[in-house]
Amino acid sequence: MNAPTNPKAFKQWQQNAENFTDVQIQTSSGHTIYANANILALASPVLERMLEHARRCSSNSRRQIKVLGVPCDAVLSFVRLLYSSKWRSSDKEEVEEMEKHGMHLLALSHTYRVQWLKRVCEAGLIVSTVNVIDTLKLAKWCDARRLYIKCMVVLTQDLTGVQCAESWRFIQAHDPQLELEILQFIQEKDLRMKRMRRRKEEQGVYMQLVQVLECLDHICTEGCTNVGPLDVDLASTSRGPCGSFSTCEGLQQLILHLPLCSKKLAPGKCTHCKRMWQIFRLHSSLCARTEFCKVPLCKQFQMRKQEEGKGDDEMWRLLVKKVAFARFMSCLEKTKRTEEVWRKAGKCGDSSCRSVTSSQRRK
Ligand SMILES: [Zn+2]
Ligand SMILES: [Zn+2]
Ligand SMILES: [Zn+2]
Repeated sequence: MNAPTNPKAFKQWQQNAENFTDVQIQTSSGHTIYANANILALASPVLERMLEHARRCSSNSRRQIKVLGVPCDAVLSFVRLLYSSKWRSSDKEEVEEMEKHGMHLLALSHTYRVQWLKRVCEAGLIVSTVNVIDTLKLAKWCDARRLYIKCMVVLTQDLTGVQCAESWRFIQAHDPQLELEILQFIQEKDLRMKRMRRRKEEQGVYMQLVQVLECLDHICTEGCTNVGPLDVDLASTSRGPCGSFSTCEGLQQLILHLPLCSKKLAPGKCTHCKRMWQIFRLHSSLCARTEFCKVPLCKQFQMRKQEEGKGDDEMWRLLVKKVAFARFMSCLEKTKRTEEVWRKAGKCGDSSCRSVTSSQRRK
């Protein structure tokens, strides 16, 4: 007779299950839960060993094992889940069962090595400021890493709230090691966040430099508004500001300033000229064009480096490396965005839209 998967129906099924099952599970409260040896042995290697031991020790075909330390209802839920071998998050009764016995089910699934149920419990357990300390202790005991992190997130978000609870005072008095572990985790998380923020800010600066270099390239090859290379007739082409004009305009002003500045050859005297020289040098350090490059001073910087035979200083090398990485990331981002546009356009019902994108792809 197949056992029902529904919690209430399974409880009712237990009333007559003695007649067609071969295992009796004794609980702490003295109740007996009935089950089939094959199902238990298949679901848990620990139960399999216990049943084998019970078989050897008893002459009776009915075997007895003990599952102690948790309430009878939690053991019943555990056995039912071993029978159904899945937990349905959409079933109201199963969700209620998890709310009620989640902690016990986690302990049981860890003890009896039912990995899928352990994962379900880790994900399903709701951690709040009220139960976080107990849940954290259990997570540590069960080696449940995901649940441990979940608890630490709650602690980080509301440490003051947790510190008002009785459980905090308890660990302060009886488990200072755990208190220290929590405080250290929170401190490390703060440091990690600060490092991440700093890295993000730095990345923003490198991204700006990438944009400046892109603008320099585009000014020196095709020209932008009224600044461009000598071989491009800027007057004959009606070109408006480019898409990055906020950056491009500043760079154009620097380019226009350079030939007119009287202090451009005095090292460090004019900040505008100094900045422009650095942008040219940065371009040269990153330029991969083996043939003619239209950006001024590109070849000169490279030749000077070769003639002098000494490389760039450490700081400059680091800057070049970081900007190169930012440029790589920017390229990846652009490719992703283009693919996204194509994908969306591919879904568009308009046939003209699809034909445009397919011709673009071919290019
Ligand atoms: Zn431009
Ligand atoms: Zn100047
Ligand atoms: Zn170049």
